[in-house]
Amino acid sequence: MARSAPEKNLENSLKTPYVFYKDRLTSFKNYKYDSDQNATCTSKALARAGFVFSGDSSAVCPFCVKCLDFDPEDDPWEEHKNRCGDICEFVRIGKLDDSQLTFAETIALATHATTVANYKKFEAMIEHIRNKSLIDLVMGEHKKAAKPSTTKTSRRAK
Ligand SMILES: [Zn+2]
Repeated sequence: MARSAPEKNLENSLKTPYVFYKDRLTSFKNYKYDSDQNATCTSKALARAGFVFSGDSSAVCPFCVKCLDFDPEDDPWEEHKNRCGDICEFVRIGKLDDSQLTFAETIALATHATTVANYKKFEAMIEHIRNKSLIDLVMGEHKKAAKPSTTKTSRRAK
């Protein structure tokens, strides 16, 4: 059974929203289980089920950001439906054959992918800023503590 994993490889959703199967499929280079004759969890099955490659045996959905670490016998579409059915636009539309997508559905998927990728990008930026200010705060406190105290000389005697 697939396990949750940290999401990666969403950057391309901004350039080429992973709306189409062939774009998702090209994200997989030498996928781990493609050489396994008995594997049902192949790059083709993953791309068809809406996923893009995110490292080793894991894949991420660019529409709901669910990242799963797969086993060779997994059915990516079943895993996607069971875990993200209520939140994922790709699962909601449910068209594995992208030639069946209407114009409105194509736009909806592209919008979801770019919105999610932007959200994740800004979230990472905010996290970076937060960490930086935290370091500055800590370093500032450290500098203050290291400085010789001047309060002693200026303090008036009672
Ligand atoms: Zn999804």
